[in-house]
Amino acid sequence: MKEFKHFINGEYSASLSGKTFENRCPVDNSLIGLVHEAGREEVDAAVKAAKAALKGPWGKLTQAQRIALLNKVADRINERFDEFLDAECRDTGKPHSIASHIDIPRGAANFKAFSETLANHPTEAFRLDTPDGKGAMNIGHRTPKGVIAVISPWNLPLLLMTWKVGPALACGNTVVVKPSEETPATTTLLGEVMNECGVPPGVFNVVHGFGPDSAGEFLTTHPLVDAITFTGETRTGEAIMKAASVGLRNISLECGGKNPGIVFADCDIEKAVEGTMRSAFVNCGQVCLGTERVYVERAIFDQFLARMKEEVAKLKLGRPEDKSANFGPLVSQEHRQKVKYYYDLAVEEGATVEIGGGIPDMGAELNDGAWIEPTIWTGLSDDARVIREEIFGPCCHIRPFDSEEEVIALANDTNYGLAAAIWTENSARAVRVAEQMEAGIVWVNSWFLRDLRTAFGGAKQSGIGREGGVHGLEFYTELKNICIKL
Ligand code: NAD
Repeated sequence: MKEFKHFINGEYSASLSGKTFENRCPVDNSLIGLVHEAGREEVDAAVKAAKAALKGPWGKLTQAQRIALLNKVADRINERFDEFLDAECRDTGKPHSIASHIDIPRGAANFKAFSETLANHPTEAFRLDTPDGKGAMNIGHRTPKGVIAVISPWNLPLLLMTWKVGPALACGNTVVVKPSEETPATTTLLGEVMNECGVPPGVFNVVHGFGPDSAGEFLTTHPLVDAITFTGETRTGEAIMKAASVGLRNISLECGGKNPGIVFADCDIEKAVEGTMRSAFVNCGQVCLGTERVYVERAIFDQFLARMKEEVAKLKLGRPEDKSANFGPLVSQEHRQKVKYYYDLAVEEGATVEIGGGIPDMGAELNDGAWIEPTIWTGLSDDARVIREEIFGPCCHIRPFDSEEEVIALANDTNYGLAAAIWTENSARAVRVAEQMEAGIVWVNSWFLRDLRTAFGGAKQSGIGREGGVHGLEFYTELKNICIKL
């Protein structure tokens, strides 16, 4: 039986209490292994190891040495690509074809992209005139923030965890990671890679468990944690923000979304269909940036809806290793219950189910998995819960609109503000509408096209702060001003 242990101070260790929980594969509900659940003591040991490592060999490395080590980590993930791929696909059920293009390569790239950016970013210097005429020099100097707690979700486990661990380590911090209880495998495996590459003990630590009254809460309330970076649901973000307020620890929160897609009649309709298909259904709709509300200009509404239904009907559900499959199950039975609840609610709220809406018959071998049908609705009112709440499943509602002004108001009529996608061949309109979107990221004629040098984060209830490129410096370092009287 496979066991997922904590990784503390460079060594794997079992839970002191002996407490474990099951990790099941959502493809067929088979048991992958047992995950050790950390109590306060294990979390305390991990945080103390991370604190001590700041003063150990890690803290004495030059920036160039640190970057060389992180490049090695990226290379080693790529050398062990198939192991990471298998582990990720077993935990999430996602097709190999997706994880081999997105999760694993981007997970590795996160250790390279940020170290280059951060190494080449200048700090500021100002000369100040003083009454004695001799002046003073101000020099900005960045130091690591300290021990960073990384709390990550299950939808892109390796990618979203390294998106934080990469820049945190590049800036010289140490980390304690609490991966999602649903997807412990790739974070655990990364411990081996850290040891193989010679990353000093205590720099990268992993504790497993749940949120409240478990590893997540014990980590975020630990007084020696200097800052907390989190990706997950908005309500969890609120709990973490409360925990961080004790001791005034800094936070970076990347939270939920209810993202609009806007399709103007002057778009290239095939591009818009292809992009909206990806944004609503890739990763079984479990992408924070995904589109759950689609607004289509009335002149092309029927044509667009018909094309979307045609494409949804072509999605091929299947096991991760099935090369012809492009659609996997949801991450867990529990999450399927949540998504199915919204499928039923949509009908209660008056939706027309254009396609899908139920649980597919996958045959005896797979019927215990967390499969669900990709779904399109029309006809819901703008205040329906299905329109206002994040579902995080493979579904979208498509609604017609008549004017640019109307659709901007509809798109922004949400508590969330993560992303928006605009489809139009009129570049003046694209910029005009993009500027008015209340969102952290706006795509025009594309979706999920990410340049790691750019800012990433959400407006409104989709988060606090920006990471990515040099923006991570604000969170992962302390900027000190050194003033020298001349
Ligand atoms: P979640 O909030 O349930 O869990 C995320 C992590 O927080 C898990 O590791 C969990 O164990 C931990 N946690 C839960 N309660 C906690 C507590 N009280 N204290 C400390 N830790 C706690 O989210 P999820 O279901 O894993 O992920 C899906 C959500 O993540 C969706 O809302 C999605 O939009 C969001 N998401 C956002 C982004 C982004 O970049 N903005 C990216 C991916 C996912």
